[in-house]
Amino acid sequence: MNDNQKDSGVRTVGNCRICRSTALAEFFNLGEQPLANSFLKAEDLEKQEPYYPLRVLFCESCNLIQLGEVVNPELMFGDYVYFSSGMPASAHFRTYAENIVKRFVSRSEDLFVEIGSNDGHFLSVVKETHANILGIDPAKNIAAVANKKGIKTIPDFFGARVAADTAAQYGLAKVILGNNVVAHIDDHHDLAAGVDKLLAPDGVFIFEAPYLVDMFENLTFDTIYHEHLSYLAVRPMIKLLDQYNLEIFDVEIHPIQGQSIRVFAGRKGVRPVQGSVTGLINKELAMKLDQIASYFKLAEKIENLKKEVKDLVNDLKARGKRIIGYGAPAKGNTLLNYYRIGADILDYATEELPSKIGLYTPGTHIPVVHVSEFRDNPPDYAFFLAWNYRDAVFEKEMDFRRKGGKFIMPVGEVRML
Ligand SMILES: [Zn+2]
Repeated sequence: MNDNQKDSGVRTVGNCRICRSTALAEFFNLGEQPLANSFLKAEDLEKQEPYYPLRVLFCESCNLIQLGEVVNPELMFGDYVYFSSGMPASAHFRTYAENIVKRFVSRSEDLFVEIGSNDGHFLSVVKETHANILGIDPAKNIAAVANKKGIKTIPDFFGARVAADTAAQYGLAKVILGNNVVAHIDDHHDLAAGVDKLLAPDGVFIFEAPYLVDMFENLTFDTIYHEHLSYLAVRPMIKLLDQYNLEIFDVEIHPIQGQSIRVFAGRKGVRPVQGSVTGLINKELAMKLDQIASYFKLAEKIENLKKEVKDLVNDLKARGKRIIGYGAPAKGNTLLNYYRIGADILDYATEELPSKIGLYTPGTHIPVVHVSEFRDNPPDYAFFLAWNYRDAVFEKEMDFRRKGGKFIMPVGEVRML
């Protein structure tokens, strides 16, 4: 943390996180926004919430998309309530874990490390087929939960120092995996240096993150919030890893949270580079992701989308329709605050996890209630904040749609489903 950050809790980015260039161009400004995970208690509604700028920059040199401001992680994660075991992603995790073990782990003593391992949900799935696992997670309370469950977890931020200590104590890792953590890490060089220190010569570093291409194809701008410091594409990551003797040898696209990329990297020259890598590099170039003009166009599309969505919900309200928010995910808060859709439009937002029920959405102060309220007294429309779980939700809420209820898709093309 530098002095600037200590004073205000926020640091303005002056250099690119990957290439250190100062040629950073702002293309999208979502204004001042509260932190997406800072749900409020009723007694705090009258207090002034902290707001931080949310601006997105393009690096002219390596083309990494990154936020213009970095909020002190202590403020974002100090009271973190996200437990991955509560999330409905288990089938995805099982296939994912089995594939990795089958493909990259050959001996029972091979070390499998997960960074940002949360409460050990994913590692507990890995443990079913491979025993030598280790988690690393900075949230001490959550790491303690994992350790209690028998998933050995180091309560710390992953980087060069922790990687060296881990290597000394446990040996080098055959697999280092990070599900949705790379984009949260401010110091990408410390991360890559850590991988370099901990990875075995034939080891593989695997990470999954929302793919920048999806923001262009489906206008999924709700991935933009203060916790997500970078918006990843293949080309900039190649430039980062190259400096640490690492190369990307395979990439897969998965329909998780919109389109995610799963990137496989190893030591240079150890594995043949698959056609998937060149394929995505060519796609990114064909989409002109190396040119600022493309990003200005994207920002314009998002602004048009905002107008369309606002017109739609205002019209429905004017006709006396009842609208609620379906889901209360962190990313929904970017959307609500940017669209300025609050408790005057949405009666409530639904949740199944007890940790958020009874709280209010940051900035927009929409009460979060159990989803049973939606089922007991169905509204006319459900504004679909958790749109990424669409298939599962449609299956669960068949009755609502059968009786004429409609979901409003708030990103991409505005549709009623
Ligand atoms: Zn750069």
